[in-house]
Amino acid sequence: MSRQISSLLAIAAVCVTIAPAPAFAQTSPKKAPVDCSAVKCIALTFDDGPGQYAGTLLDTLKKYDAKATFFLEGQYAKSRPQYVKRMVAEGHELGNHSYRHPDFTKSSEATIKAEIQQTQDAVKKAAGVEPKLLRPPYGMTDVRVSEIAEQFGMPQILWTAGSEDWASKNVEAIQKQTLAVAKPNAIILMHDWVKQTVDGMPSLIKTLQHKGYHLVTVSDVIKEEKLEPGDAFPLPQGWEQ
Ligand SMILES: [Zn+2]
Repeated sequence: MSRQISSLLAIAAVCVTIAPAPAFAQTSPKKAPVDCSAVKCIALTFDDGPGQYAGTLLDTLKKYDAKATFFLEGQYAKSRPQYVKRMVAEGHELGNHSYRHPDFTKSSEATIKAEIQQTQDAVKKAAGVEPKLLRPPYGMTDVRVSEIAEQFGMPQILWTAGSEDWASKNVEAIQKQTLAVAKPNAIILMHDWVKQTVDGMPSLIKTLQHKGYHLVTVSDVIKEEKLEPGDAFPLPQGWEQ
């Protein structure tokens, strides 16, 4: 061992000895990832944002040490970059959900590529990172969209179930529906522009955590799937295995 390293270790040992114990656990984005093959995981995903209630949602997620995945629209990453920055700083995952939310299966190849690229650029400008996951608007995809996703190096992440928050806009209904479809490694569709979703989040998170769920990112729950760029997960109905 070099002398430099041993003296650094000595300093580290002293620091550990004299550092006061933290009064409460700190949330750290650098924390080791949860092993979803060993514990119950669930991935809450928020589409179309950053929505106008993203700040409140981020406060709640931080309070309960919960992680989420945000499938952002480029136009809102551009207009609300402060939230995008916070999402990354606080350990959440970002996905690309197009720039203006057109149905990709009804869009030209040039439009799809521009929608994806402009969103990558807007997120990078806001937070210095580029999304590695794509969620096509409305979850609508086909062979052509998949090929473009492959060119961008991104798997397409759909959802195992929805909270139906955009339809009910009711705190109790959103919680009831989400708990009804919650299962290990579920990917749940929600929206941070729905006020009732954000209002009900503290009690929903508490209930999920009480049931033993770790609230993690999409990448945590899909780790075992070994998805390739262009793959869609879960497979849309009617698609071959
Ligand atoms: Zn959407």
